[in-house]
Amino acid sequence: MLCLGIEGTAHSVGVGLIKKVNEKCRVLSNVIKTYSPRQGGIHPREAANHHAIYIADIIKKSIKKAKIKRGDIDLISFSQGPGLGPCLRTTATAARALSLSLDKPIIGVNHCVAHLEIGRGTLDKCKDPVLLYTSGANTQVIAFAEGKYRVFGETLDIGIGNCLDKFGRTIGIDFPCGPKIEQLALDGKNYLELPYTIKGMDIAFSGLLTAAEQFYKKGEKLEDICYSIQETTFAALTEVTERAMAHTEKNQVLLGGGVAANKRLRDMVQKMACERGASFFVPTRDLCVDNGAMIAWLGVLMYISGIRMSVENSFINQRFRTDMVDVTWRD
Ligand code: AMP
Ligand code: MG
Repeated sequence: MLCLGIEGTAHSVGVGLIKKVNEKCRVLSNVIKTYSPRQGGIHPREAANHHAIYIADIIKKSIKKAKIKRGDIDLISFSQGPGLGPCLRTTATAARALSLSLDKPIIGVNHCVAHLEIGRGTLDKCKDPVLLYTSGANTQVIAFAEGKYRVFGETLDIGIGNCLDKFGRTIGIDFPCGPKIEQLALDGKNYLELPYTIKGMDIAFSGLLTAAEQFYKKGEKLEDICYSIQETTFAALTEVTERAMAHTEKNQVLLGGGVAANKRLRDMVQKMACERGASFFVPTRDLCVDNGAMIAWLGVLMYISGIRMSVENSFINQRFRTDMVDVTWRD
């Protein structure tokens, strides 16, 4: 089965083509184009306009790279949510147009679940992981239990990537700020005390962000602030992930989302996994960030398990929660 998946929940528009080979996912192409705001944060309508401008071209590029013909495609999938309304509507419209013009079925999928399934689909021994999903807008600890992907812990305010990007904006660096903060943190030596906020299994970053901005205004060394932000936020994320692993008695951990590119975060989570005798997984970078291949793969899993969607019912859902999905394709 060959599926074309379209992603467009926020800053990135992506089109991936995947094929199911035995039980695994073979990625044939995965083209991504990211919108960078000229200043400030992501403006939903501007991001949607960006997606509208580039999507036709990205679809063509993805088909060309995969070395297939349009007629070979069996299924069209798209990210139904959660995400920014204008962006979701733009990509859903493209998916509907493609489904109607190729006369192929359409299926809308949950973006967060796709981050988990692409790990299971592409990494050999990754079977039943706890996912630490760290992206711009989303930060969740997700694992399978009793027919659903359940959220064991999540941010109560902003996503971890958003926290890094907001701090980056304060200090005058361009989006995405995570990689630059990672670089600066390498030269940080002094740990500055920042709020470490865990409530039950949930985390919060706004207080830490304000405190970090105050350190910056007071003239503390930038490298030390970046180092302290990473140490504090990543420790909190690792702690909640470990608790979810203990609670669910799972012995695999998977990273996903753009922040998973960060070496310090990887090292911390890997060390935790190692100390528990658990396995650590992280997909390749293009499958960690928002991408069409993961949307295509989840589309295939859902379709094969018998789920169907008509174009008339392919609504987007900005607040589509991870645990709203009935997971019919695994046990
Ligand atoms: P996503 O929303 O999953 O596409 O991820 C985008 C987020 O990842 C942005 O907030 C980036 O700042 C963040 N990011 C990307 N690379 C890194 C990195 N090396 N370290 C920390 N954050 C990163
Ligand atoms: Mg994402």
